[in-house]
Amino acid sequence: MYFKNILVPYDESDHAKSALHIALGLAGPYETAKVHVVTVIPSASLPNPTLLGDIGLDTPYAVGDPVTYERILDSVVENTVSDIQHVVDESRDDAKCKIVADAVISNSALEGIVDYVSSRDIDLVVMGRRGLGALRGMLGSVSFGVLRSVDVPVLTVK
Ligand code: ATP
Ligand code: MG
Repeated sequence: MYFKNILVPYDESDHAKSALHIALGLAGPYETAKVHVVTVIPSASLPNPTLLGDIGLDTPYAVGDPVTYERILDSVVENTVSDIQHVVDESRDDAKCKIVADAVISNSALEGIVDYVSSRDIDLVVMGRRGLGALRGMLGSVSFGVLRSVDVPVLTVK
């Protein structure tokens, strides 16, 4: 058995990069495996949250202004692709799996990750134990929430 759809929630932290490295190691030998590198943009950090609030917050397009939000998502994805390039180069060698970068808008990082797991048939989550947050501790709040909320296996890495 192997994992076909691995989610690596990506916040640009070194921990998330380690998670990607491990996910690529797991999926590498399998041509039909896919590693989804996904950034969740909390809707509160976007311009005009009121407008997003009216449409249920987890859709990538704001009513009346799809272009702006599409552009934000595109630029986040573009950024991820260049940001992870060296991790991919280092880990890949003869890896056969597919790697896709994605970005979604949601109420919170946790909600976005949980929704992505169920809507994309994710069978494993590999994520950092910590992220960009400044506080030190065992486990970040997003990791803690994901461990509590999803039914698929979750691998947390340093
Ligand atoms: P906190 O946010 O609680 O202050 P932290 O930033 O150190 O603490 P988390 O945010 O829980 O820790 O980050 C743990 C992991 O969760 C990251 O390594 C990354 O895999 C994932 N993650 C965090 N934020 C996002 C996000 N906005 N989008 C996608 N993945 C995320
Ligand atoms: Mg964080």
